[in-house]
Amino acid sequence: MNLGLSEEQAAVRQLARDFVEREIAPHVTAWDRAEEVDRGIVKKLGEVGFLGLTIDEEYGGSGGDHLAYCLVTEELGRGDSSVRGIVSVSLGLVAKSVAAWGNEEQKRRWLPGLTSGELIGCFGLTEPGTGSDAGNLSTRAVRDGEDYVLSGTKMFITNGTWADVVLLFARSTDAPGHKGVSAFLVPTDTPGLTRRTIHGKLGLRGQATAELVLEDVRVPASAMIGAEGKGFSVAMSALAKGRMSVAAGCVGIAQAALDAAVQYAGEREQFGTSIARHQLVQELISDIAVDVDAARLLTWRVADLIDRGEPFATESSKAKLFASEAAVRAASNALQVFGGYGYIDEYPVGKLLRDARVMTLYEGTSQIQKLLIGRALTGVSAF
Ligand code: FAD
Repeated sequence: MNLGLSEEQAAVRQLARDFVEREIAPHVTAWDRAEEVDRGIVKKLGEVGFLGLTIDEEYGGSGGDHLAYCLVTEELGRGDSSVRGIVSVSLGLVAKSVAAWGNEEQKRRWLPGLTSGELIGCFGLTEPGTGSDAGNLSTRAVRDGEDYVLSGTKMFITNGTWADVVLLFARSTDAPGHKGVSAFLVPTDTPGLTRRTIHGKLGLRGQATAELVLEDVRVPASAMIGAEGKGFSVAMSALAKGRMSVAAGCVGIAQAALDAAVQYAGEREQFGTSIARHQLVQELISDIAVDVDAARLLTWRVADLIDRGEPFATESSKAKLFASEAAVRAASNALQVFGGYGYIDEYPVGKLLRDARVMTLYEGTSQIQKLLIGRALTGVSAF
């Protein structure tokens, strides 16, 4: 077992650290307050190769293994979870699904743009009435000659108002396969597709989260990705890897919480001495440090399993479950170290806590991860 990084992986991590320091850190508070990340960041992410990690160079990708992907995701999460999420969705859920399930024409049409940042992808699974029970979705795809006609509403879609293409999941009426769900690559400028930004989020305020409404949206049958009726497999395989990406982002949040808490504890004085000298403050800091290490090791294990071609879905659920809960704990402990100053956004820890909170909700809530892990261990589904 080797828990160290290769020279190449360490270089990728340094590249990501420098990128965050230069392009993200100076703007984080302003983007959060404005409820919008500067969209220009997407092109910059593409230029440095972060939107093409693990994708073949033949399709514009920058190659690399899943550990490198985790390292970059962690650093982006350490800098700004809103930016991290843009990558986790456009690359992690959309481009990687196109690479895994798309035919040659679909790969050539979408991957160069998605990996360069010319195009942004979003993942349309959740609906107003179906979140955890995603397989029960009600968006319809009705075959009409050489086309499908799509109707329905998608909720909470990350990158939704920015995206050029949505990987959309719909029930195709005549599909015999798994629950009859099929996946489609739908350009967002297709007539009948409208989008509404969802404002007032607790965290990830810089992200363009949207509701997508489809009214008789007509796409050619060639927009379907994967076989008819097999769309749920496309969604679940994307989420199995996506959970690793969320976990890596959570490691980044927890690490940022640790850095901030250690620095502040060394600067702040109470009772005539540095608060770092108070044992209960050291307890808060050591609890964060253990959470960071445990979450990171669970996350790296998933990357290692994927890169070795081993089964990884249950380990990905464990990593996501632990890392998301750990990120919330870590950010909350860091806020405690900051006292009242942690509660205002001139300091970073309040945002870390707000951004961490959603991690226990999306790509499967903590309860859903427990049911997935329980099912894998017992062989009994408790959904
Ligand atoms: P519900 O499913 O209604 O769950 C409510 C509660 O019931 C939760 O505590 C849940 O754990 C619990 N529960 C449900 N079923 C069970 C059960 N069987 N046993 C025990 N407890 C249960 N979706 C996308 O498709 N694409 C995106 O890009 C995307 N981005 C998002 C971004 C943000 C900021 C947010 C908030 C959400 C996003 N989502 C996205 C949606 C997200 O994946 C869902 O919110 C999530 O799956 C939970 O669904 P729900 O909100 O409908 O909650």
